[in-house]
Amino acid sequence: MPTVDNATAKTLNELGVNDAQGVAEIFAEVRARFDRQVALDTDGIRNLMLQQAWLGSDRDPVTSLRNFWLGRKAGVLTLITENWLKRSPPSLKGVIGKQFNELKSHIETKLAEQRKRIEEKTEAAALTREQVDLSLPGVIHPIGSHHLIRQVFQEIEDIFFSIGFSVVEGPEIETPYYNFEALNIPEFHPVRDDMDTFYIDLPEGAPTPLLLRTHTSPMQIRTMEKQKPPVRVIVPGKVYRRDNPDATHSFMFHQVEGLAVDTDITFCDFTGTIEYFVKQFFGAGVKTRFRPSYFPFTEPSVEFDVSCIFCGGSGAAAGGGVCSKCKGAGWIELFGAGMVDPAVYGFVNYDAKKVSGFAFGMGIDRLAMLRYGIDDIQVFFQNDVRFLKQFP
Ligand SMILES: [Zn+2]
Repeated sequence: MPTVDNATAKTLNELGVNDAQGVAEIFAEVRARFDRQVALDTDGIRNLMLQQAWLGSDRDPVTSLRNFWLGRKAGVLTLITENWLKRSPPSLKGVIGKQFNELKSHIETKLAEQRKRIEEKTEAAALTREQVDLSLPGVIHPIGSHHLIRQVFQEIEDIFFSIGFSVVEGPEIETPYYNFEALNIPEFHPVRDDMDTFYIDLPEGAPTPLLLRTHTSPMQIRTMEKQKPPVRVIVPGKVYRRDNPDATHSFMFHQVEGLAVDTDITFCDFTGTIEYFVKQFFGAGVKTRFRPSYFPFTEPSVEFDVSCIFCGGSGAAAGGGVCSKCKGAGWIELFGAGMVDPAVYGFVNYDAKKVSGFAFGMGIDRLAMLRYGIDDIQVFFQNDVRFLKQFP
């Protein structure tokens, strides 16, 4: 009895098959072989492919099996047509044709069933994978919050909004004209030593030097250049000084400056505005005072102090001794301010005889440190989540 291996490459005559019985037997063998293969799972088919070096053995096993049997050029059915059907005596052609058609429809049906079976299995596996186990602990995505500095900015802006100020913002890279000269700080003025900053490296022949602004005051000038009085603005933003970092210094910090200019602004408006702000920010219980001071762009200039928020202005520590925050003074220095120096109006074409106003500048980092009892300015810039999380 001939075996099926390589049988389809030979004619039935060569295989010794010459009657209907032999035809039925050899077709039964082919069919049995197919049935064994189609019953395999994908791994089984893949192994078979490797063993027998099937055509396209790198393709998916199901397609490969289909090609092996139904492939147009060299599939088993094509070989049967060529070698058995076409090259047999006319007397056997009818029997072979009938057997061939039965085999063909059997193979097509079974392969279609197999494909369906495998697809369902893949789908079921995917469903299992996607199943959600509600008893598992959830993935926690931490929700961020505004940085404390940003929160303090927001609070200060809200206080000044409530009394008619608006916010303007401007460039951090400035010209010496806006940062110094227009603010009545000419070159070689000694105050420039206190405000030394970073200069930008520029190519030879650049029209003007550029620097990182040392205060947000340049925006006061830019605002007055653009806008006639009345002006009521605050300018929040980052500023830079050439300071070495320590607990109270940083080469970059934050300021809010304020400017009010109108035809009838007096020193009383000025102190009233500042006092309103301080009480809103630190609480109604605090006291304020001002001391004469000096700034090139205000005249007269003052330093504003607030009664110490840690010892209530007594200067004494709770457990005895002196309050470490105000060193026993009972007062804490808050910020500088003053009436705008009339010389500044000359730079922006305001009539110094008709307008007056006040300006103030406060360090946001310092205000936040005082309000929340923070000892070291560096923590604002270290991005330690343990610190940031305390101010959600
Ligand atoms: Zn104190």
